[in-house]
Amino acid sequence: MTDFHKTYQNKDITVFWQPEKCLHSANCVRGLRAVFDPGRKPWIELSEGETEDIVRTINNCPSGALSFEFNAPASI
Ligand code: SF4
Repeated sequence: MTDFHKTYQNKDITVFWQPEKCLHSANCVRGLRAVFDPGRKPWIELSEGETEDIVRTINNCPSGALSFEFNAPASI
């Protein structure tokens, strides 16, 4: 079994994309097309949205194909 995933990062979060889990519900595309655009490469572009909106959209992914974690705060 493959465990392929890609990661995308902005200053706040790291997003994990596991395409083998995707159910193609398109919740992500409908929720925030500027960030999740299957017609673009790369199809995820975190700089096109606010972290709060990205998190909300990922939380609506029914399959777990999209997930995220908050980045560790920078040490001083
Ligand atoms: S919301 Fe999740 S399951 Fe639906 S298309 Fe996007 S990544 Fe795939």
